[in-house]
Amino acid sequence: MDLLKKRILQDGKCFEGGILKVDSFINHQMDPVLMKSIGVEFVRKFAATNVNKIMTIEASGIAPAIMTGYLMDLPVVFAKKKSPKTIENILTTKVHSFTKDREYDIIISKDYLTPNDNVLFVDDFLAYGNAALGIIDLIEKSGANLVGMGFIIEKSFQEGRKKLEERGVRVESLAIIDDLSHCQIKVR
Ligand code: 5GP
Repeated sequence: MDLLKKRILQDGKCFEGGILKVDSFINHQMDPVLMKSIGVEFVRKFAATNVNKIMTIEASGIAPAIMTGYLMDLPVVFAKKKSPKTIENILTTKVHSFTKDREYDIIISKDYLTPNDNVLFVDDFLAYGNAALGIIDLIEKSGANLVGMGFIIEKSFQEGRKKLEERGVRVESLAIIDDLSHCQIKVR
């Protein structure tokens, strides 16, 4: 996706440890026009599937997921990182966060992830794939079917794709970063 690649090169910032900062247009301040184009791309890639629900994880996945769900006219559900007292029938799993270097629980209500769901998971980044593996665990526990996973940005050198493809998952990324060493952003 050329628009996204250009924006990453123009406004993305590289941090120590292979972290790309895109918080001026994706995950803090957001560019809704770019986010709509991201949604259009996900629709283009997954329109021919039997997806009937969009799933994401809070917070940075919500914007691309809601755009995709809006364009496909499908419901959107997000896995939560904290368990509110009001949530019922929960499924839960643990995820290791690479940016925060700690474990956290993600949860979802069985009311919104069911064996009738054919799920497209959408998120901002694919790095080591830990968040995505946690989502696969929730989907398996719920009895839902995973159609595919779409990421705005994939960092190929952190090998999340390999882990997901080994599980038989279809992975689509809109921009692939091949290298961030010496604080130079190399977009494929
Ligand atoms: P993974 O579980 O694949 O290692 O990492 C995925 C999650 O970590 C994403 O949902 C994203 O929130 C965060 N993340 C991973 N790498 C980066 C990065 O380079 N920049 C930012 N801003 N977030 C990242």
